[in-house]
Amino acid sequence: MPRIPKSTALTKRAPHAEALALQFGDAWAYAPAPETTPVTVKDRYDLFIGGKFVKPSSGKYFPSLNPASAKKLTEIARGSARDVDKAVVAARAAYAKTWSKIHPRERGKYLFRIARMIQERARELSILETMDGGKPIRESRDIDIPLVAAHFFYYAGWADKLDYAFPGKTPNPIGVAGQVIPWNFPLLMAAWKLAPALACGNTVVLKPAETTSVTAMHLAEIIREAGVPDGVVNIVTGPGDTGAALVNHPGIDKIAFTGSTEVGKHIAKTLAGTSKTLTLELGGKAANIIMEDAPLDQAVEGVINGIYFNQGHVCCAGSRLLVQESVYPKVLRKLTDRIETLRVGDPLDKNTDVGAINSKEQLGRIAELVDSGVAEGADLVQSNCRLPSKGYWFKPSFFTGVTASHRVAREEIFGPVLSVMTFRTPAEAIDRANNTCYGLSAGIWTDKGSKIFKMAGALRAGVIWANTFNKFDPTSPFGGYKESGFGREGGVQGLMPYLRV
Ligand code: NAP
Ligand code: MG
Repeated sequence: MPRIPKSTALTKRAPHAEALALQFGDAWAYAPAPETTPVTVKDRYDLFIGGKFVKPSSGKYFPSLNPASAKKLTEIARGSARDVDKAVVAARAAYAKTWSKIHPRERGKYLFRIARMIQERARELSILETMDGGKPIRESRDIDIPLVAAHFFYYAGWADKLDYAFPGKTPNPIGVAGQVIPWNFPLLMAAWKLAPALACGNTVVLKPAETTSVTAMHLAEIIREAGVPDGVVNIVTGPGDTGAALVNHPGIDKIAFTGSTEVGKHIAKTLAGTSKTLTLELGGKAANIIMEDAPLDQAVEGVINGIYFNQGHVCCAGSRLLVQESVYPKVLRKLTDRIETLRVGDPLDKNTDVGAINSKEQLGRIAELVDSGVAEGADLVQSNCRLPSKGYWFKPSFFTGVTASHRVAREEIFGPVLSVMTFRTPAEAIDRANNTCYGLSAGIWTDKGSKIFKMAGALRAGVIWANTFNKFDPTSPFGGYKESGFGREGGVQGLMPYLRV
């Protein structure tokens, strides 16, 4: 069983939430509006190697759960080092025979076709993403899947224009790319990896995360139906060992990894001294900074979007809130009221704001860190929402009274838990925001354009949002500073890791 934080017992209903409940009664309670479009989930999913769905050489499969019910959704093939080897051989052959040889315009055509087919099957993919990963349908339907299609469209456009991306230079593909991705944006991370690699003329072996492999296998179907030559894309599912086998395979020219800083560091050590090139997209502990002149309602809504939607399962989540002292009481009150109105529950319901935690293990990690916050003396505020009796859930929560040395201020929680701190001057806000080993993203809320420019220049983070948060677009590069990794995905910059220029 996941550990339930001892801290839960300390939760008090915030006074303003009490007043709201008295005033509005159950006005917040919409009727359920669950998604009813039927989708087909297969009983089991095989590996995708050389353009065919093949059984794993070990004959073994592992269960993939629906985290909202903790029930088995399907079975996924457990790829071994032998399967990885077959996939790399298939990718190498496809690289040499077709993909690096065909006209770049043809590569573009395949990618455009994939993008259109994703759009046609968007509803199905959104539902599958939500069933397998636990994120609210609103998120997968309105954010993940449209962005997946957008990335394929965007990089399809670059396929025959690489000479314009790097004028005066000769861009060439690298060869076979090994790509390992996490569970928080399963299909979107696959798109971020596959689209630029393929546009640049590389072939690929992709390893999805263990708990969320289903949509990658449906993408494999799309890739096959689109007529992409056999072996250009290979997908080998399995646990961390399968990822390690891919990283260590001598036939790979490039590794692209998105996941935890811990595993990223391990991969960097493994690859040191080899000819493989590496890009790492790792963890984050973003600061969301509210200045006293900010539009506060809008800012609080941005904070909510930045940490609670998608259960805080976002590498660039605004998990540290820095509020200027003069507006702290107001912001705190608004935040307390707002988390009380967040709807936690059935991810397939379009009214749901906060879905299920992706796995029992992740719930355990969140609970352990929240316990540490309470033990170290921070004050926990949690929503009074009722959690479903089955599945993996965590109440929207935040800590006040947090100091920079608390674990909840330093470590990535990767759950719907915010650490609130205050500052007096812009310089102090910048110091506090930069006081982290990470540097993936940051947010600034202010009425003054000059403050935005000044602060954005001083923040050590790859992405900085101003008066908004967690907005993505395939044309803008994404990536980290410091222990959040190196290399950029998205935009023209996202082509670089897949080319020798
Ligand atoms: P993780 O444990 O590092 O796993 C990421 C992927 O690596 C999974 O496919 C995993 O397989 C695999 N893996 C595990 N051990 C491996 C090894 N020794 N060699 C090769 N592959 C290995 O991360 P996670 O918990 O799934 O994801 C959450 C983390 O990802 C967070 O830290 C988050 O910030 C980060 N993230 C970063 C970005 C970004 O763009 N910077 C985006 C999304 C997420 P299993 O699934 O079997 O464990
Ligand atoms: Mg699952």
